[in-house]
Amino acid sequence: MCGIVGFAGKNDGVNFLLEGLCKLEYRGYDSSGIALYCNDEIKIIKTVGRIEKLAEKCKSDKVSGNAGIGHTRWATHGKPSEENSHPHLSNNLKFAVVHNGIIENYIELRQELEQEGFVFKSETDTEVIPNLLQKYYNGDLKNAVNKTISRIKGSYALGILCKDYPDMLVAVKQFSPIIIGIADDCNIIASDVTAIAPKTQKIIYIEDGDVAYITANSVEIYSDSLMVERRISIIDWDINTAEKGGYGHFMMKEIYEQPAVLRRILKEYLKDNEICFPNINIDKELIKEIDRIVIIACGSAYHAGVAAKYLFEEITGIPTEVDLASEFRYRNPIITEKTLTIAISQSGETADTIAALTEAKRRGSKTACVVNAVGSSIAKIADNVIYTLAGPEIAVATTKGYTSQLLCLYLLAIFMAEKISLDHKAELIKELNKLPSKTEEVLSVQEKIADVAKRFTKTKSIFFIGRNMDFAAALEASLKLKEISYIHSEAFAAGELKHGTISLIEEGTHVIALCGYERLNDKLLSNIREVIARGADVLCAANNRNMASSVGADLFSIPKTHPLFTALAEVVPFQIFAYYVALYKGCDIDKPRNLAKSVTV
Ligand code: GLU
Repeated sequence: MCGIVGFAGKNDGVNFLLEGLCKLEYRGYDSSGIALYCNDEIKIIKTVGRIEKLAEKCKSDKVSGNAGIGHTRWATHGKPSEENSHPHLSNNLKFAVVHNGIIENYIELRQELEQEGFVFKSETDTEVIPNLLQKYYNGDLKNAVNKTISRIKGSYALGILCKDYPDMLVAVKQFSPIIIGIADDCNIIASDVTAIAPKTQKIIYIEDGDVAYITANSVEIYSDSLMVERRISIIDWDINTAEKGGYGHFMMKEIYEQPAVLRRILKEYLKDNEICFPNINIDKELIKEIDRIVIIACGSAYHAGVAAKYLFEEITGIPTEVDLASEFRYRNPIITEKTLTIAISQSGETADTIAALTEAKRRGSKTACVVNAVGSSIAKIADNVIYTLAGPEIAVATTKGYTSQLLCLYLLAIFMAEKISLDHKAELIKELNKLPSKTEEVLSVQEKIADVAKRFTKTKSIFFIGRNMDFAAALEASLKLKEISYIHSEAFAAGELKHGTISLIEEGTHVIALCGYERLNDKLLSNIREVIARGADVLCAANNRNMASSVGADLFSIPKTHPLFTALAEVVPFQIFAYYVALYKGCDIDKPRNLAKSVTV
């Protein structure tokens, strides 16, 4: 969460900082600010709200500077306000700091500093950092930075300016993302590649514990006070993929990218119908040792995990559990050397998932991950890595992130199952190959889905029901709707309704029944009849009219796929549905309230 940028260059860096913040706005967008070294002082400009406002303020204040830092915030400590927005200054105005993460011991540090006479202007945890820098600074910047980071606990990526070093910025990384970009006329820092890619392809992924001192001509990186070399990677990245490319919103653009992403995954990982993962070392012998699979994830990635559980158990016969990473990390999970823990995360930086995976590894588990961001923390921790090859996902509500994770998990399940015994592999591979065109089918009926969505703009509450794979898809369909349209929406395993939830069904309650997993349609039909009998207004998501007409409900068309792969293409029409409901309601689709992409806190 939150986006950080920083610039040390030969020319003015204000435009880079503002453009970089726009690119990172998806990570947090309640307030923003920049700090620049300008006319012998550190000048700060902040606003509540979006980056356009900050840009206007910078323009009217005519600020410029060759070194600066910027921040777009997702508040964790203190409301979104100008006082709480970053950068934060030390009392003597010598240090400016932007921070992504949480300082867990900030209360005691703040009390200590207050007793020494420091005055705090914000409610944030961050403000202790510039003041600690002031406290420890005696002319030696490195010493002050080292002393400060030895005092703070928690997760932090920091960008720091010091008035005495007008051409320098400092970057610090500890459990929150920050990378360095090397360009001809400047060196830069940012929370992720989207802000750096327009300027340079040369990236340094610094590691936890690293401190970097950056000027226009030099980058010095220290770990434990010793200078270290970190490799320069060249990013193979088309910057247009982070632009809207004619679509009204990133979300719709990313929905449309799904067939291409799925094709890319199949092309990369299927060679002559054999599954080849370049970064996976799971062979027959190792699979024999695995007696349990534990999938850990959050949000939509968790839903991909729920769908994958059904498939893993069905074709590998290995008991599979799915756990919310935020729950897993705070209990006593039963993990042994015979467990394979699979972490799923789009950004690879999801704090709860990192912690859960680290804990599983500590307990001896074999580990794998399915992530989109190359070189991310989770990819570094896991022994085996599958990249989802989805390209940058900017809309906060994931679409191609989810479908690409699911396809990779399908491939992983088949890859493992064939090493045990899988007689219908050819059939499954053939069906997987159809998934890109199945998702394309959905895109071609976008207008029909938009029409259905019109009926739901005044809706207060919706229930999605389904069984097995349809239940997994229902979880994701429901989340998509609630996160961007703010309609209360819940997904239930259809058979569970009568154990409580059915009490909420009354005349006109909207229920959407997902009927893609045809093996259980007879059972689902009974549940649909139960809610209709209590007055529900039901929409049947099915690939033919039969289910819908047999209960007199309206049809919501979904593509027909192999039953085991139901949860992938079936979710795509609901992504479009959620998009249009949100559009008709006038919601901010790419940046829904209270949310942020990449939950790093
Ligand atoms: N904890 C800091 C704050 O609330 C940083 C939050 C962020 O990562 O945006 O200001």
